[in-house]
Amino acid sequence: MTDASQTPPATGPAASPGTAPQGAAGGLPPADAPTLLVKIFGKDRPGLTAGLFETLAGYGVAVVDIEQVVTRGRIVLCALVTVPAGRGAEGELRATVHAWAESRRMEAEIISGIGDNRPRGEGRSHVTVLGHPLTAESTAAIAARIAGAGANIDRIFRLAKYPVTAVEFAVSGAEHTALRSALALEGARRGVDVAVVPAGLQRRAQRLVVMDVDSTLIQDEVIELFAALAGCEAQVAEVTAAAMRGELDFEQSLHARVALLAGLDASAVDKVRAQVRLTPGARTLVRTLKRLGSQVGVVSGGFTQVTDDLKERLGLDFAAANTLEIVDGRLTGKVVGPIVDRAGKARLLRDFARQAGVPLSQTVAVGDGANDLDMLNAAGLGVAFNAKPVVREAADTAVNVPFLDTVLYLLGITREEIDAADELDGVDTSED
Ligand SMILES: [Mg+2]
Repeated sequence: MTDASQTPPATGPAASPGTAPQGAAGGLPPADAPTLLVKIFGKDRPGLTAGLFETLAGYGVAVVDIEQVVTRGRIVLCALVTVPAGRGAEGELRATVHAWAESRRMEAEIISGIGDNRPRGEGRSHVTVLGHPLTAESTAAIAARIAGAGANIDRIFRLAKYPVTAVEFAVSGAEHTALRSALALEGARRGVDVAVVPAGLQRRAQRLVVMDVDSTLIQDEVIELFAALAGCEAQVAEVTAAAMRGELDFEQSLHARVALLAGLDASAVDKVRAQVRLTPGARTLVRTLKRLGSQVGVVSGGFTQVTDDLKERLGLDFAAANTLEIVDGRLTGKVVGPIVDRAGKARLLRDFARQAGVPLSQTVAVGDGANDLDMLNAAGLGVAFNAKPVVREAADTAVNVPFLDTVLYLLGITREEIDAADELDGVDTSED
């Protein structure tokens, strides 16, 4: 990238390179020392950053901070540097930088000030916004809510451009639960997903991600696939509806629905396994998490006959569900063993976390149903995935786009990083 031969020699006073600037202590200027913010803007090309710093090097200044952003081929490069020592040196530096910028057809601005950046406020959060598309109107509304909560946006960058536009705001100055409630309301109103997670090392720590299966990891409801093969779809749907009306609890509805499958040939299990459709992005999510050293599990109110197969196919670390009883090659209409229900899912999350050696605060749970609520609340981060309103409102964060890999964006992982890792490993992503 750097091509020093194209950069005109710096013409500043003869401060030898490496000379410590006056007033510097431990490489940084005292808090009240004057500093210069040097900003250049224009068409990006190789060698610009090298060129600017070679120009500044002629004045023996120290670098306090650098930020550089390139958007559609335009660069904004900001350097915060110490003021050069010596009478008239600052004026010369200014003139030299402007001349250099002009020779590169760039705009330059140099602003005098004192010390380093103002320290960021307490209460730091990452606000991830997913839009499909992300409109200027919703971006304005989210930013206004952040300001309204008394917080400051310190940085903004894009995490992904597909399958949705995802941007992350690094925010400081507001307690994250207060910020979360303010932004959840606005996000729901605008039809964008907004996730607020506290900043800190924990976000990048090794973790455990536990997902629900039906309508989360897969697009189907497994009991409905069995019911179709048994020819009792309508009856199963009626039990499901009664459960949703609150007339039956989960266990009652599970027993009632499984009873309708009595007598079904066991070959139905293979047929259902073959019919199950993974949610778009499911493979990418699991593969990327595994690369990061995370452990991944599923818990389901459905059946081990399907979840064990998914565990095998996706290389999951944990799977738990109910087990359909099969005797003499036929479903008996009963389940065997303990029932995985709403409380059971949360208990399994804790069990998996213990086995994985991951504290509960570093777990992520993803689910869509009322059955998932305890698990979503128990996890460090609970993600309601295309969930019913009651689940959406109770969860830490909600994703309402039908792509499971968007969960990675909530963890601060960029699309570019995901794709680069896939490319490096030669992964065939056509089925993801
Ligand atoms: Mg579900």
